[in-house]
Amino acid sequence: MPACRLQGDRLTAGYEGRRVLDGVDFRVEEGRVTVLLGPNGSGKSTLLKTLARTLTPEAGRVLLDGRDIHRYRTREVAHRLGILPQSPTAPEGLTVRELVGMGRFPHQRLWRQWSAADERAVHEAMAIARVADFAARPVDALSGGQRQRCWIAMVLAQETDLILLDEPTTFLDLKVQVELLELLVKLAHERGRTLLLVLHDLNLAAAYADVLVMLRDGRIEHHGPPETVFTAANLKRVFDLEAEVMRAPNTGRPICVPGLGTAVGPAHPRHEVSA
Ligand code: ADP
Repeated sequence: MPACRLQGDRLTAGYEGRRVLDGVDFRVEEGRVTVLLGPNGSGKSTLLKTLARTLTPEAGRVLLDGRDIHRYRTREVAHRLGILPQSPTAPEGLTVRELVGMGRFPHQRLWRQWSAADERAVHEAMAIARVADFAARPVDALSGGQRQRCWIAMVLAQETDLILLDEPTTFLDLKVQVELLELLVKLAHERGRTLLLVLHDLNLAAAYADVLVMLRDGRIEHHGPPETVFTAANLKRVFDLEAEVMRAPNTGRPICVPGLGTAVGPAHPRHEVSA
């Protein structure tokens, strides 16, 4: 069994008088891609923020490499764990290269500002996320998809083993979503990085997750490999979605096809329709 890098023990968390997570136990295992799925408002972002120490739980604790995350110094956490929150915003006028360079903050010291290692990490991260072509442009002048890739480059430049990404594929074309997920899976399986992703696309989640976690109303309903978790019964229970689950012909992974309403009849060849 792989080592557990990040663990939540009986986490209860929320915002001023509003409880969102209720006694959640959660494990993120080394070298795996763990994907969180759940309806809007089910608590996915709240769980990610609590695990990354952006939000302090009311009860329970988070263990990072076996030690209470609140006992680490901030820089130490940033050395081990990188997080990309949902819809981050960059300061006006900041260039792509400057933004990606901000990922190097935890590696810098007062007496040694910018090193060859920083330069290499930024260069590599920009190449991987394919943002090098517009490195000199301001982030706020880019398209949503380009901007999203800049933020991903920033997290990669941080060079942490643990990476938490909240809906990283929002705004991206399907082809770019697939490219990005391929890249992230390779980081995990070939370079031993540990990934926790929130995804909204059910089929992409089932295609790329090693471990799928389904959250509903602040509780974990299902946790395990897609083959056992991604079932029609679970999709109905968690998302209230009527869907058939089949196997993708190319990968054997589960895929869902939503049951459509009465507005959609069977497809007919065009000449039959117009006849
Ligand atoms: P998800 O990521 O699954 O969509 P969230 O964790 O963002 O869910 O939100 C869970 C619940 O917490 C929602 O009802 C949301 O409105 C509420 N919530 C999220 N962020 C805040 C906040 N900063 N202040 C108050 N309530 C919040």
